[in-house]
Amino acid sequence: MLELKEVNSYYGNIHAIRGISLTVPDASLVGIIGANGAGKTTTLRTISGIMKPRSGEVLLDGKPLHTLSSSEIVRLGIAQCPEERKIWPQMTVLEHLELGAYLRGQRDLIQKDMNRVYQYFPWIEERKNQRAGTLSGGEQQMLAIARALMSSPKILMFDEPSLGLAPIIVEQIAKIIKEIHAAGTTVLLVEQNAFLALTLSQTCYVLETGEVSLAGPSSELLQNEHVKRAYLGG
Ligand code: ATP
Repeated sequence: MLELKEVNSYYGNIHAIRGISLTVPDASLVGIIGANGAGKTTTLRTISGIMKPRSGEVLLDGKPLHTLSSSEIVRLGIAQCPEERKIWPQMTVLEHLELGAYLRGQRDLIQKDMNRVYQYFPWIEERKNQRAGTLSGGEQQMLAIARALMSSPKILMFDEPSLGLAPIIVEQIAKIIKEIHAAGTTVLLVEQNAFLALTLSQTCYVLETGEVSLAGPSSELLQNEHVKRAYLGG
């Protein structure tokens, strides 16, 4: 189980997340929704160790993560599929997969994960020597997911995977997230597309100006008047 307890993170003097507490149980699919600047990305960065909280705790199975480096956190099985994908245009598709497996030693297991990635995304095997910069936006998002899967994560965090993609591609990405979760990976899904996050997740947190304003079963939040008005277009 991943847990945040009263976490506060800052950019200089900017208090970006304010006393956030949340729980991501093993094998769950948890959503975080919120408007621009609500603190969603900062929450993920604080979990992945890219940012250190000024106060509060990030715990994995009761043990502190916030004292560890981001590479140690990846080794413990937490991977992030970042906002805007962070694809390297000059690198090939295969090099991205190798990058995802960089912190792992065992060659045979890496090959097993590569085969798993090819099952999710058959086109990746066929186009592994293509430069990533020539892929479409949807393909780049799939490659970012594939790269994160190559670290064989126990917990996979998605930061706005639907951003800038056509509805039909969003449907494909949603299906893949469901499959990854069904295969046993715990998922933390950050989305501005509240409908997507609420329909995929079991529980969801609503962030507003750096604080958790609402939390609960996603099916209930879908019926919540404030959520409907503010995030689901009435
Ligand atoms: P978005 O959907 O736009 O990414 P978000 O919910 O992920 O929004 P964050 O990116 O976590 O929000 O931002 C939370 C707050 O921190 C905002 O007030 C934002 O302006 C501020 N912030 C984010 N990144 C930086 C930065 N690099 N330097 C200073 N302030 C930042």
